[in-house]
Amino acid sequence: MCAQPLTDDKGRTVSYLRLSVTDRCNLRCLYCDRRMSTRLTHFDVLRYEEMLGLIGLAANLGIRKVRLTGGEPFARKDFMEFVERVRARFPRLSLRLTTNGTLLAPNAQRLADAGVDRVNISLDTLDPATFARITGQDLYAEVRRGIDACLNAGLRIKINAVALRGVNDRELPGFLDLARTLPVDVRFIEYMPMGGADWKPEQVWNAADILAEAKALTPLTLLPRDDADAGPAQMYAIEGGKGRFGLITPLSNHFCATCNRLRITSGGLLRTCLFNDRVYRLRPALRHPKLGLPFVERIVKLALRQKPIGAELLAARRAGQGVSATSMSAIGG
Ligand code: SAM
Repeated sequence: MCAQPLTDDKGRTVSYLRLSVTDRCNLRCLYCDRRMSTRLTHFDVLRYEEMLGLIGLAANLGIRKVRLTGGEPFARKDFMEFVERVRARFPRLSLRLTTNGTLLAPNAQRLADAGVDRVNISLDTLDPATFARITGQDLYAEVRRGIDACLNAGLRIKINAVALRGVNDRELPGFLDLARTLPVDVRFIEYMPMGGADWKPEQVWNAADILAEAKALTPLTLLPRDDADAGPAQMYAIEGGKGRFGLITPLSNHFCATCNRLRITSGGLLRTCLFNDRVYRLRPALRHPKLGLPFVERIVKLALRQKPIGAELLAARRAGQGVSATSMSAIGG
């Protein structure tokens, strides 16, 4: 392990890597990029062995938490074997996944056996018809099976819903009930202006409104922010609840000052800020016979000298426009 924590030019410690294992997804969510025009070729996608090398480098540089994401990670062949290899090779890393849950049920026990620390499941609605409208697929029941399978296997899970005015803004009672009856954290995330999707400000259901509406439905108690597991979410206890309720506010109350993240796409692009399309190409160095990981390390350190404050980019964009030209499925949300 590296003695010095990895820091950026603004003094922020970087300890968290989000690694996308594929840009492909089996859903076509209306707020993501339905066209999937940027699909990578087989050659362009990092091999699992290359990803293991990058995770090892990250661990040596002081990264403590790795989240595997996509696209849809379970849509990549042999993803489960990859998870097991990561866990076996890096037993001290906190290992997490983000998934849409549609392919989760058959893998839940294996994830638990592998010792995965957390699984985040994206689920924007509790209504099967709305699910089909948002995602283009009639797979709501599969996600619910995935949630049940994770809970039965003893996995710790969070459910993340993108808050969308006119789409799921009547579903607070159901989501609160889910957090009351199941031992899960249910979090709403503000809809960010990302990628080619047709983002409009009036589609944003902002956190202040969600909180006011939630408090009118049930007593909520604000929890201290010192829960390292909560990440940027502000969490609330629900009276008599097995789970908790939370809000993630990239738009209305950004958390850039404490951003500890790096992202690497499945094509090997390093991204230091979700809201900045500046990327650093790691793949050529990684595959170069003479450069390899030592050179990748130099690129990472150089990139960290220029890790921006995303909220400034958000504020500087033209009204109503996207802050990034890349969709979350291509970046790895
Ligand atoms: N397929 C996996 C999943 O569904 O969780 C991982 C990738 S997905 C791009 C990661 C997360 O990004 C999902 O929770 C998705 O809802 C969220 N997301 C995508 N576009 C978003 C946007 N514009 N604003 C907020 N969240 C977004």
